[in-house]
Amino acid sequence: FMAGKSHEGYAVYTSIFDDHSPRRLTLMSELRQALEKEELQVYYQPKVAIKTGRLYGAEALVRWNHPKHGFVPPDEFIPMAERTRMIKHLTLWALKQTFGQCAEWHRQGLDLIVSVNLSARDLHDPELPDIITGLAAAAGVKPAWMMLEITESSIMTDPERSLEIIQRLHDMGYRLSIDDFGTGYSSLAYLKKMPLTELKIDKSFVSDVLKSENDAVIVKATINLAHNLGLQVTAEGVENRQVMALLDSYACDLAQGYYLSKPLALGEFNEWMRSDAMDFVNPEFN
Ligand code: C2E
Ligand code: MG
Ligand code: MG
Ligand code: MG
Repeated sequence: FMAGKSHEGYAVYTSIFDDHSPRRLTLMSELRQALEKEELQVYYQPKVAIKTGRLYGAEALVRWNHPKHGFVPPDEFIPMAERTRMIKHLTLWALKQTFGQCAEWHRQGLDLIVSVNLSARDLHDPELPDIITGLAAAAGVKPAWMMLEITESSIMTDPERSLEIIQRLHDMGYRLSIDDFGTGYSSLAYLKKMPLTELKIDKSFVSDVLKSENDAVIVKATINLAHNLGLQVTAEGVENRQVMALLDSYACDLAQGYYLSKPLALGEFNEWMRSDAMDFVNPEFN
C-alpha cells in the first residue's frame, strides 16, 4: 500500500482500509482489543468564544495509535466501525473517557463544556439515553456540561427515530450540536423540530471563506439561519486570524481550528490552558 504523512502526522493508507480488504476484519477485531489495551486515546481541541477570546470548551476526538500502522485517523476506522457493531463499544468508551475528564475539570474549577461525537447507529439505539445516564452518574458529570455532536446525515438516515432519542437526551439536560452542517442534505423542517443548542459549520466552507465568495455567502447565511432558530454557531476549521476576523464580523459565536490549536493529548491540553497560548487567542482581530 501507499503510505505518506499528512500534516497531523498520520500515516495515510490506501488499500488496507478498503471495505473488501481481508485486513478489514482483522482491524475491527484489533479495534476491540485496542479499546482495552489503551491504544486509543481521546484528544481535545479547544473551542473559543470569538468576541471575548474566552475558552468555551473542547471537542473530544479519538486517536488510534496502532502498534504496527502508527496513527490511524478516525476518518478511516470510524466509518468502518459504523458498518459493524463496533461503533457502540467505541462510543461508550469515548463517553466514559470524556465524562470522567469533564467531571475532573469541573472539580478543578474549570467551567468547560465538553463535546463528544455520536454516530448514526448510536442515534438509533433506544438504549443509549439510559446508558448515558448511568455513565454520567458514575462519573459525577452534570448533563449541562456536555455537548453531544450529531451529524446532519446521521439524523437524516432515520429522522423520526433520531428525533425521539434527541428529544430524550435534551430532556435529560444534554446540549446537542449538529455537526458538519452543510455537507449532508438536511431538511430544514426537521432542523426546526430538533431541540438543538448549536450548529457547527463544516470546515470545508470555513477554510475557503476568504477565497470563495460563494462559501462566504453560505457561511454568513448559515450563521443568520442558526441565530434565527435560536442556536449558537461554531465554525470548525479556522486556520488563521483573517478567517477569525471575518467570522467575528458575521457575529459567529465560537471558533475551533488550527489557528487556535490542533487537537491535543490531555496533558498538552492542560498545559495549553495554563500557557500563554490563551493570550494568542485573544488578539484584536480588526
Ligand atoms: P468532526 O467531528 O467534524 O471533527 C472535526 C475534525 O476537523 C477533526 O478531525 C479535527 O482534527 C479537524 N480539524 C479541526 N480544526 C481543523 C483545521 O483548522 N483544519 C483542518 N484541516 N482540520 C481541522 P479528526 O480528529 O481527524 O476527526 C475526523 C472525524 O472523525 C470527526 O469529524 C468525527 O466525525 C469523527 N470522530 C472523531 N472522534 C470520534 C468519536 O469519538 N466518535 C465518533 N462517532 N466519531 C468521531
Ligand atoms: Mg464533531
Ligand atoms: Mg465537524
Ligand atoms: Mg467533520
